Amino acid sequence: MNQALHGQVALVTGGSSGIGYGVALALAEAGASVAINYHSHGEEAEDLAGKIEQVGGQAIAIKADVSDEADIDAMFDSLIQHFGTVDIVVANSGLQKDAKFTDMTLADWNAVMNVNLTGQFMTAQRAVREFLRRGPRPVSKALGKIICMSSVHEIIPWAGHVNYAASKGGIQMMMKSLAQEVAPHRIRVNSIAPGAIKTPINKAAWDNPEALEKLLKLVPYGRIGEAEDIGHAAVWLASDDSDYVTGTTLFVDGGMTLYPGFADNG
Ligand code: NAD
Repeated sequence: MNQALHGQVALVTGGSSGIGYGVALALAEAGASVAINYHSHGEEAEDLAGKIEQVGGQAIAIKADVSDEADIDAMFDSLIQHFGTVDIVVANSGLQKDAKFTDMTLADWNAVMNVNLTGQFMTAQRAVREFLRRGPRPVSKALGKIICMSSVHEIIPWAGHVNYAASKGGIQMMMKSLAQEVAPHRIRVNSIAPGAIKTPINKAAWDNPEALEKLLKLVPYGRIGEAEDIGHAAVWLASDDSDYVTGTTLFVDGGMTLYPGFADNG
């Protein structure tokens, strides 16, 4: 088994379902001890922690609302108290509140921004502060690694989802600006931009044959993604194998961003 992350500690926000679950599991399989943040699905987070411990790994579940500053501070306090520090932080939590633009309420807009963008800002900020506080560790060439969970919608406009697309576009510039600022400290900051991954957030797009057929027209590679596809990418971005990679968005999308509408001459 690839133990590229042996001896390192990871935090995954929104780790109780979907992509976060797959990422937490993949990081644990690669040897990291994992803190699984959850907001609403405590049982799933505890089950995952148990599953990781059964195979000899170390894991804890921590409840926190990533849009709440006091919760973020408490989450990092628990994490550091339990594991001593953190080496890899995956800011993954996200949600959608879809509406036609003229019907979108300020509450819909704020809810998405507060979790998807401000939540990632606060998560990444506490991570950087902790990396700087504890200094270098022999477990990695970098002082620390941050992975922001973006989306193909950081570049693909999405009618009916203006709040979501704006939050992911914001993540792109937050990630790049932060990467530029902290690179001299040997902190690497990158994003993963998933395409269509089979999770609860987009169930309506894949849970019946007609919806799936329509979705697959947007995916040149011809299949929907699985959480483990993102997990494998996260392990690489967190490991020293990607030590010279910072400020980059890794698209894991089966070619969704290749303008598939032009495949037959446009
Ligand atoms: P999901 O709904 O299974 O996961 C979202 C996670 O975020 C859940 O665990 C949820 O509890 C958590 N969350 C929501 N609000 C929170 C809060 N206030 N505090 C803490 N956690 C909170 O969906 P997913 O597909 O696994 O989404 C994970 C990330 O991947 C999101 O950022 C999403 O935008 C992104 N993404 C998903 C896809 C896809 O196709 N599934 C595509 C592109 C990007």
